[in-house]
Amino acid sequence: MRYHGVAVVPGVSRGQLWAPRPANIQDAGGFEAFEAARQRFIDDAAALPEDLSAMYAAIVLDPMWDDGIARHLAASGWLPSAVSATAAEIAATLEDLDDPYLRARAADFIQIGAQLIRLLGNAVAPAPESILCARDVSAVELAQWSEQLAGIVLIDVAPTAHVAIVARGLALPTIALAGECKGLYESAQRAGEGAPLPSLLNGFEGWLETAPERELAQRYPPQRITSQADPAPVHVGDRAIGVFANLNFPGDAPFAAALGADGVGLLRTEFLYVDRPRQPALAEERSTYARIASTFTGRPIIVRTLDLGGDKVGLGIEHDGLDHGMLGVRGIRLSLRQPEPFLQHVQAILEGFAGADVRLMFPMVTLPDEFRQARELVIEAARRAKGSRVPPLGIMVEVPAAAYALEVFAREGASFVSFGTNDLAQYFFASDRLSADNAFDPATNAAFQAFVRDAVARAKHAGLEVGVCGEAAGSAALTSFWIECGVDELSVSPGLVPWLKARLRNALSTSAKEVT
Ligand code: PEP
Ligand code: MG
Repeated sequence: MRYHGVAVVPGVSRGQLWAPRPANIQDAGGFEAFEAARQRFIDDAAALPEDLSAMYAAIVLDPMWDDGIARHLAASGWLPSAVSATAAEIAATLEDLDDPYLRARAADFIQIGAQLIRLLGNAVAPAPESILCARDVSAVELAQWSEQLAGIVLIDVAPTAHVAIVARGLALPTIALAGECKGLYESAQRAGEGAPLPSLLNGFEGWLETAPERELAQRYPPQRITSQADPAPVHVGDRAIGVFANLNFPGDAPFAAALGADGVGLLRTEFLYVDRPRQPALAEERSTYARIASTFTGRPIIVRTLDLGGDKVGLGIEHDGLDHGMLGVRGIRLSLRQPEPFLQHVQAILEGFAGADVRLMFPMVTLPDEFRQARELVIEAARRAKGSRVPPLGIMVEVPAAAYALEVFAREGASFVSFGTNDLAQYFFASDRLSADNAFDPATNAAFQAFVRDAVARAKHAGLEVGVCGEAAGSAALTSFWIECGVDELSVSPGLVPWLKARLRNALSTSAKEVT
């Protein structure tokens, strides 16, 4: 059976699915036992990077634990339930807060509570080559078990959570699955009780297949990306090809920077908007961007303005009663219909990235007139963001019509384009990108490649810098194709950066040998 989710760390792994079971505790002890477990937790957390271990120590030392545990212990007399009741109580308080950072800490309290309970019982550890099915697992446990793990499935855990950040650092293939996989979690717990569940995890494409057919397992051999940083640039002759990173969340930024990304090729700003009924406050948006800017000092950062619509819902998108799916008011079309929220959004970007090498990119642009209108709004936002200048502007090439007007965009003031091959392929092939039956593969389709090759040539001719930020940028089958097209920059998920640099250098040295 296949479970689809979000790809968090690329790679492929095989193993038995495993989830830690609730600890079997005979004699839990009283408050001193809690304090001993807390101290062990702090000692274990010391193995994490400094900022994370300090954050975990601060959370576990929060006086709310002491109050809650003393109260629940007096009522029930049973320490494990006092710990879980306290964790749930604190999490519920945090979930009610407006501040998204504090809201996100709710999950940390639940995970730490679960770990404290495990620390009260016998140690649990996975067998070698397990695929961890993680639900209430903390980053501390993840780091401890990493030697035995082949991969990680995060259930009900946001890709922004600390466990996800630590998973990225471990370079273990990882995916995040939505909550409907509850049954899968229970199966994983049973797997630890002698009901093995062989599984194949694909962190490139974001799925897990339980009991995979032999043919499928042969098609996807295990593959681990390296977590070794590679800050050296890649050159074709005297020209550099930038290997940039796509950032979906602020937590991706330090990881991408540490791995040696030459810049950010796509910052998907939707993370602050999706599933929220209202626009975030200017100050919240600005400070989030400032944090990202501080990790990429001196490197270019391409920020894409809000790309809502289609499958990304937020901001109360107006509908006309028809379901337009991917063909309706999306991306820049929506922003132009709601100029005030757009102005505030751009102002937050300009203020948050003040002093950085920031560039602004508009999504889903179809007509030059949309670019003109968006440019005028950016000029107004720069006026509101005191002291800001208008940064270099560009468009995503996602709609085929835009690919035939690149000269006009350049004349209107665009200085770069980035090929969003995920949407470009969907509109080129008339095939929904979300459909599991989408059989059109840019990596093997000659018509798509001819179209893109022409468009890149036209963009270069118009003096535009050319990047690629769709998934095809990191397709192993297309590395040589992108070099031949003459693109300036490829932007991929952070974990792929060192891998892609190595692959480009390899392709370049192979073609150099062929020429001589
Ligand atoms: C794309 O369409 O290729 C792209 C990078 O944008 P997104 O995947 O966010 O739609
Ligand atoms: Mg897109």
